[in-house]
Amino acid sequence: MSVDMLTIPAKCVTESRISELDFNNIEFGKIFADHMLVVDYKDGEWQQPEILPYGNLALSPATSAIHYGQSVFEGMKAYKDANGDILLFRPLENYKRLNISAERMCMPELPEDIFMQGLEQLLRMDAAWVPPTDGCALYIRPFMFATDDFIGVRPSSSYKFVIFTCPVGAYYGQPLKVAIEPKYVRSAEGGAGYAKAAGNYGAALLPARKMQEKGYHQLIWTDAKEHKFIEESGTMNVMFVIDGKLITPPVSTTILKGITRDSVLTLARDLGYTVEERKVSVDELVEAHKAGKLQEAFGTGTAATVAQIATIHYNGADMDLPAVETREISNRVAAELEKVKTGRAADTHNWVYRI
Ligand code: PMP
Repeated sequence: MSVDMLTIPAKCVTESRISELDFNNIEFGKIFADHMLVVDYKDGEWQQPEILPYGNLALSPATSAIHYGQSVFEGMKAYKDANGDILLFRPLENYKRLNISAERMCMPELPEDIFMQGLEQLLRMDAAWVPPTDGCALYIRPFMFATDDFIGVRPSSSYKFVIFTCPVGAYYGQPLKVAIEPKYVRSAEGGAGYAKAAGNYGAALLPARKMQEKGYHQLIWTDAKEHKFIEESGTMNVMFVIDGKLITPPVSTTILKGITRDSVLTLARDLGYTVEERKVSVDELVEAHKAGKLQEAFGTGTAATVAQIATIHYNGADMDLPAVETREISNRVAAELEKVKTGRAADTHNWVYRI
């Protein structure tokens, strides 16, 4: 069937649920906007996309994604500017990363027009769900999973791609206490760490919970061979300021290529800071802290943009970092990035996609 992308057929809700939402007190991930985009892949082709009322999907218990984990996803946010226009931040990067993840999980490539036009039409229909409030956004969850009802281990021949959305409040997270992970690994060379594959997240839950039980919000993943080099922090990329330089591990097959990571590095370079993408060893952090040169540490990701790290635990000792208010680079770049995303600063890199 050919895909008619001019207008995606839509079944609209008879009554919007938006009155259930308190825009001043948005509960994270609980209330979903009225509509979702759904498109099936079968017989070697993507079928006609549809927009439907948000609701349950009917699935066979043998659905192969549930058993063997052929399932990938993305996470992005839409903002409203002062004129009420909807702004997306670098959505094509999410589209490209979805296909990188799909390729690694032996899943078909999704055409750009289904992703972009589907997203645009869905957001136009649910525009009222994009919070106008400062710091709030509409979180967007595109995902693709295997739908063959067959329990043999093989790549599925059918898939579903879905996009749904939910409003999210401002991130007022307290600075994080994190611990360097000495035992578990998130990913290894040759594995699927660079893919946003569902299984990566399931396997990270137990190590994260164990760290939480020890009093840390999150862990810092280290390399799979020796636990000597820093990888990521929870579900964020991680950055440090040592002696005035912004330093972060290079993206590799074991690290997710964060869109916030790239944006932060670009803005930091624009602002004239020295940026180094290179391996960071745990020993280097310990030495820098001892010498009083570890000035900043923070995670970067769509959820928080920049999440400050207050304390890093390693090998029985807590390294306390300088107060968040004193951190020049992360505070400056975070403020600038937030302004670009919400249309309040010049978009010199053409990152903003207006709907
Ligand atoms: N690493 C991991 C493992 C993640 O899940 C995420 C969130 N997508 C990130 C880093 C940050 O990526 P982004 O800035 O694109 O949200």
